[in-house]
Amino acid sequence: MSAANRPDVLDSLVSLAKRRGFIFQSSEIYGGTGSVWDYGPLGVELKNNVKQRWWNAMVRERDDVEGLDAAILMHPRVWEASGHVSGFSDPLIDCKACKARFRADKLTDAACPRKPSKKPGEHTDCQLTEPRQFNLMFKTFMGPVEDSAAVVYLRPETAQGIFVNFLNVQQATRQKVPFGIAQIGKAFRNEITPGNFTFRTREFEQMEMQFFVEPGTDMEHFERWKQARLDWHLALGLDRDRLEFHQHTEKELAHYARAAFDINFDFGGTLGFQEIEGVHNRSDFDLRQHQEFSSKKLEYVDQANNKRYLPYVIETSVGADRVTLAILVNALREEAVPGEQEGRTVMGLHPALAPIKAGVFPLTKKDGQPEMAERLATALRKKFNVFYDEAGAIGRRYRRQDEAGTPFGITVDGDSTANDDVTIRFRDDMGQIRVSTSKVVEVLTNYLEADHPRADAARAG
Ligand code: ATP
Repeated sequence: MSAANRPDVLDSLVSLAKRRGFIFQSSEIYGGTGSVWDYGPLGVELKNNVKQRWWNAMVRERDDVEGLDAAILMHPRVWEASGHVSGFSDPLIDCKACKARFRADKLTDAACPRKPSKKPGEHTDCQLTEPRQFNLMFKTFMGPVEDSAAVVYLRPETAQGIFVNFLNVQQATRQKVPFGIAQIGKAFRNEITPGNFTFRTREFEQMEMQFFVEPGTDMEHFERWKQARLDWHLALGLDRDRLEFHQHTEKELAHYARAAFDINFDFGGTLGFQEIEGVHNRSDFDLRQHQEFSSKKLEYVDQANNKRYLPYVIETSVGADRVTLAILVNALREEAVPGEQEGRTVMGLHPALAPIKAGVFPLTKKDGQPEMAERLATALRKKFNVFYDEAGAIGRRYRRQDEAGTPFGITVDGDSTANDDVTIRFRDDMGQIRVSTSKVVEVLTNYLEADHPRADAARAG
């Protein structure tokens, strides 16, 4: 399906995200901060689950990747070596008539604020300036004196913390090339045109991994990581036909890069297919630059083969916020309910990613049902994030959890206390099964540990 065929769900997602507590605008009571967002109770659970999945796949389940948590503030020379001081800029164009700002390289995607059906420059009033380079790094000062010697930057990517620690990690862990270093952390970019909810923000989190390989073996590792990263997105439940590789053209490719592919996701509407992750073969550019600027040897010594060299780097870089947005867009659906006038809104999240795993509901507030349901909720809480709710009609309680993406609803009814069993209702097909109370943990665990992207009763057997 082409991008144009999928509807734009961002507006309804923004309002659902606020209503249910996934994502709020930062400093909302003061009118909001431009393109900065806060994760609410459901959002923080969802994003943590995404980060946990990444950490497990990239670090815990492998013996050739080590974890790291480098600081946000780094020596200012790092950013000279990396090329960010001189080159991390976007071409900025101002419109003198309406004061809007545009990225020159994204002009064809932008709309004239005075007449959104036209591109900037197409309206008779437009007065566009020539493009000028605008550095995207946030600057601040280290220590009490605000002079140029005290300038430090908020990191615009996490990768440099990995490069400068390459030998520290290698020597501490005694890893042999090929091996990787992975980290999750905040990055900051003073973007010219942030927007589209959390798609492009000024403060965001990256999940990056640098895999150090012997020159000459780099393309083979590159291909392997490209596939592994696509598979990771598929296992989160992103639809296969919403994902594609975009190969960087000669013009897009950095001068030092040997190859680069983006993994693009179709966000629908006018946004369409956009990058969520980059997989790059960066040659030995970064280590060579740091070796030169720091005057410290960063070569890897291959003792077994009596060789020393600067490894090449295969980088995988994915935005935690951007992939979380892709997951929400992919999961959101409105559907009719047979026999009911009102349809329902469902956040069809992969059960393992869902912020709340199960809602626990007494059908009525009598006959010991609330007590039994509370006991069950307390027992389940030791293993899962569950939500106990006894307020209002059962149908409405189910609907609230459908919107929150909760895969299972566990209901205690009039027969439960006598038979010691409950009903499990599945979010995706609304099917129900009856299970004995002692089996609930097992049924839920099976779903959470399997790679089923959906939760439905049809699979329960
Ligand atoms: P773009 O061309 O969209 O500005 P980029 O190519 O500069 O992105 P990278 O530097 O490759 O992006 O960053 C790697 C990943 O970090 C991206 O794929 C994206 O998921 C995430 N990312 C980058 N910039 C932002 C941002 N401003 N807001 C949210 N996520 C971002």
